[in-house]
Amino acid sequence: DFSIKTGRDVSEIIKKLMMLGIMATINQEIDLDTATLLAADFDITVEELPPEADPTEIPEIVDDPKTLVLRSPVVTVMGHVDHGKTSLLDVIRKTHVTSREAGGITQHIGAYQVVCQNKKIVFLDTPGHEAFTAMRARGAQVTDIAILVVAADDGVMPQTIEAINHAKSANVPIIVAINKIDRPGANPDHVKQQLAEHALIPEEWGGDTIMVPVSAKQKIGITELLEMVLLVAEVQELKANPNRAAQGIIIEAQLDKGRGPVATVLVQAGTLSIGDSIIAGTAVGKVRAMVNDRGEKVRKAGPSTPVEVLGLADVPEAGDILVSVDEKLARSIAEKRIAKKRSDELAHSQKVSLDDLFQQIQEGNIKDLNILIKADVQGSVEALRQSLLNLNNNKEVRVNVIHAGVGAVNESDVMLSSAANALIIAFNVRPDANAKKIADTENIDIRTYRVIYEAINDVEAAMTGMLAPQY
Ligand code: GDP
Repeated sequence: DFSIKTGRDVSEIIKKLMMLGIMATINQEIDLDTATLLAADFDITVEELPPEADPTEIPEIVDDPKTLVLRSPVVTVMGHVDHGKTSLLDVIRKTHVTSREAGGITQHIGAYQVVCQNKKIVFLDTPGHEAFTAMRARGAQVTDIAILVVAADDGVMPQTIEAINHAKSANVPIIVAINKIDRPGANPDHVKQQLAEHALIPEEWGGDTIMVPVSAKQKIGITELLEMVLLVAEVQELKANPNRAAQGIIIEAQLDKGRGPVATVLVQAGTLSIGDSIIAGTAVGKVRAMVNDRGEKVRKAGPSTPVEVLGLADVPEAGDILVSVDEKLARSIAEKRIAKKRSDELAHSQKVSLDDLFQQIQEGNIKDLNILIKADVQGSVEALRQSLLNLNNNKEVRVNVIHAGVGAVNESDVMLSSAANALIIAFNVRPDANAKKIADTENIDIRTYRVIYEAINDVEAAMTGMLAPQY
């Protein structure tokens, strides 16, 4: 390629490479640095092309730092089961939501805002790290701060450690809420010791982890905890540009009988407004109405605001990124995403079968051909196994016999084949009724033979693309 693009002789290029200390062959790949050095020798400059844009992605907006303003922190509550995550979320909401002037009805929309020291804090309403991890797995980072709830009478437990590891791997700062300090068996110092073993050292011991003793039940320490959240947020300098096309994350979504698809969006940048054309995952639409966590209708939602959005044509998935874009672009990207999803699903669900084995090999979908053998007698089982394994010489695919046994093809054979993506060769035996039914739904190819030679022939032919179609 280098030779073609530069019009220089391959031998000349290889000679130059050797002088650079690279013993290259004609079809060896060279990296950008090497290509640049080499080209300089020929008085040619090399320029790196930008990577091709993914047609299913919306180009990201890069904000000018001057446009950024402070935004409220978004907090997730994590911790071991029964340590008081739900109770803590409830008490924070009850004590710090200013709902009096808004008619007093709080809506569960998956996230809510509270006010402390005249500043807002957003809480994600689904406790636990499962939601947190699910979103992260989809590439969405929602949380700025994690509150780790540890019961003072129970101490560090398996899910406490999991939560610590999740927060750490996401680079999210942890504030520890040592809960249930009202309990007779509460021992906050013991909890601190245990946490120190996981590298969370309390400030009073010279570490940098804030730990607040609280009681969700007795409403002790709640304001202090929120003040600490604000303190950590201040250090983080969380900022966003409110004056641009909106971008946010779907916190939850469902189909409402009366209202159609309803999605809770946490706006992360820009401002979402009524009438905006939006896309989230494969769902597109126009913002028809927005409702905040106090049940009020709103026309606009800026950074760090959770709102319920009406107007998407389909239900998006939690963790999907919502973007406000031109309607035409939204539609075309959604179409491409749907097509990609379909082909991904197809590739995933496609089971091996002799009929299209060769095509699958060609497409690189199959490197191992897994086979399960069932036969009427042990001698045939062995004969089949040996002959099939003999096909292994010099082939692009490797034949594996994942299981071989005497008797009819049963349900367990089919399930095993489904899990291992194997096809079944049945010699002088048939699948029982149940196995046949499951094989149909699981798309398992069961081939029955009465002559060993034919079985071997078929597999070999399928591997080389010479299998005659069956009618
Ligand atoms: P989660 O599983 O972490 O969400 O825990 P919950 O919030 O459901 O609480 C589990 C149990 O602990 C419930 O019975 C709560 O009433 C109780 N609980 C939660 N916080 C406190 C607390 O501060 N003090 C006492 N005594 N009990 C609490």
